[in-house]
Amino acid sequence: MPFAVTAALVGDENVTATPDNETGQMDNMTIAGYIAQLACAIALLHAPEVLVIGGGVMSDGSLLPRIGELNPDLVRAALAKALGIEAPALTEDDEPFEIPYRDLTFCAGCPHRATYFLIKQVIKRSGAPCAVIGDIGCYIMGGQRAGYYGFQFENCMGSGVAAAEALGQLTAYGFDQPIVAVVGDSTFFHTTIPGLISAKYHNANMLLIILDNSATAMTGFQPHPGTGLTAMGRRADPIDIKAIVTAIGCNVWEADPFDLDGTRALLSSLIGAQGLKVLILKQPCATLSAKKGKKKKYRVDASLCRGDDCGCGRFCSRVWGCPGNSWDFEVGKAVIDEVACVGCGVCAELCPAGAIKPEGGESA
Ligand code: SF4
Ligand code: SF4
Repeated sequence: MPFAVTAALVGDENVTATPDNETGQMDNMTIAGYIAQLACAIALLHAPEVLVIGGGVMSDGSLLPRIGELNPDLVRAALAKALGIEAPALTEDDEPFEIPYRDLTFCAGCPHRATYFLIKQVIKRSGAPCAVIGDIGCYIMGGQRAGYYGFQFENCMGSGVAAAEALGQLTAYGFDQPIVAVVGDSTFFHTTIPGLISAKYHNANMLLIILDNSATAMTGFQPHPGTGLTAMGRRADPIDIKAIVTAIGCNVWEADPFDLDGTRALLSSLIGAQGLKVLILKQPCATLSAKKGKKKKYRVDASLCRGDDCGCGRFCSRVWGCPGNSWDFEVGKAVIDEVACVGCGVCAELCPAGAIKPEGGESA
């Protein structure tokens, strides 16, 4: 919403912070400042008796900065100022305490976890190195522990396919690793198509894997041309990724990353093959699936769980790493966190002891 609309909502005189130029444009406003103004506008509309403070510039006497992190010192000082009291001095009890470390990770049941697991497994089993390049989206975590350190580097949005094409040119200089680029569906629409056209035009030797989870999940589920919704929430004919890739002239394959055997076999055959290949891995974002309701409940049969003796040492909770896979320290066995688990069933397929089962069923 442009500033002018916000101002018009409440009347200019009610908006205390104004843009820096006379045209009402937001050139010099920060997003935080803009959000603060929106909050003021909404408060003024719905609860005019509420005094909204903060969100200004520190140097001119307001309480909180427009930019930067709101750390405890800033908030403590701002609260004291707002209440007209001295900020209380810190005591020993107020010393910062240690917050338990949490890795960045994919959501429970995220299809990207299965994809990176399979990519890693196939490369490992091939016994040869492979260059994997990431891009911008949730799947950027594939370069970290969450994705088993599944790619070596990524740069700006849309650069993955271009970097992969460029690496392929190094064959003439002795670089002989297979090259894989990983990109999401939203990034494909935004910035990957020109790179793919270039890769096709130059007969690049690479595999492009498109992780189609039907969502722009990392930044808040904004619609993209594949979702069938416009930014205004209206229905539209979705653009088919496969049709675009085919129109460019690429050979294209499709698979479901939750079909572990099928996807593994495809990856094995495509990663080392010559020429430009495109693999679309289609499985909706776990958050979208979760909104539609839980598919199945899973549980661990403690009598079958190998616990610490499990092949990789607590494979499900330590290696696979879905937030739904937890560990019962008292019992010394794996356990499914019912709240986190969305019932994708992948851990059940991977458990070497067959100890994870759907409720009321014997197999995944
Ligand atoms: S993967 Fe299976 S056997 Fe291993 S710890 Fe988890 S539930 Fe137990
Ligand atoms: S079934 Fe397993 S992998 Fe899937 S969400 Fe539940 S705990 Fe995670």
